[in-house]
Amino acid sequence: MSTVQENYKEVCARVDAACIKAGRERQQVRLLAVSKTKPADMVRDCYQLGQTAFGENYLQDALEKIDALRDLPDIEWHFIGPLQSNKTKAVAENFHWLETLDREKIARRLNDQRPPALPPLNVLIQINISDEDQKSGISSTEVQAFAQTLASLPRLKVRGLMCIPEATDDEQRLQQQFERMQQLSRDLTARYPEANVLSMGMSSDLELAIACGSTEVRIGTDIFGARNTPAAQ
Ligand SMILES: *Cc1c(COP(=O)(O)O)cnc(C)c1O
Repeated sequence: MSTVQENYKEVCARVDAACIKAGRERQQVRLLAVSKTKPADMVRDCYQLGQTAFGENYLQDALEKIDALRDLPDIEWHFIGPLQSNKTKAVAENFHWLETLDREKIARRLNDQRPPALPPLNVLIQINISDEDQKSGISSTEVQAFAQTLASLPRLKVRGLMCIPEATDDEQRLQQQFERMQQLSRDLTARYPEANVLSMGMSSDLELAIACGSTEVRIGTDIFGARNTPAAQ
């Protein structure tokens, strides 16, 4: 077994244990393997153990892998990086999910550019849950209005919420942010039952995120190792 495969099994065991501890069904939590900057061979290793959903941040890096892995029929690609408007077309054409939607202009472009032969693009609304100035994501007060705008775009399908919390060692602060996300998610699903995905939790905090209701943890480092420097995009 390769190192990636060993790491992957360990992460799966952590997710299993976190679900048991939180009293949640294992099927309620999906694992997104974040393969950004890592080669297609590592993705293939992970796929061989049953992993189908992969997250990418850098478009060029991602497109090369998507192309190299076209023989894997049920592989599912999630774009999880910041998205500039001149790159929306490639995302609309090549990805199954966009997890970082926070601007109407981007949404309209994706809606127009999604190829008719493909099903609607699944999108998550990114929330700036820590209210940091420099951070992507809409404010928590804007969620319902933004969801309503997105609901009028037929080539997008709003599936839920995503956040990257503050980088902090203060577990209580982190927990407060995850719990606010959980409440926002409940409010959203009350109006849009299909928007029930809550994407939060990374290598260092997946257990806490699962305890706070996460339905998708995004794990990079603990599966694929420390990141390579991304090539200029
Ligand atoms: C890189 C990245 C991850 C994975 O983070 P790790 O700490 O390496 O597990 C998760 N989510 C997003 C949005 C990322 O950019």
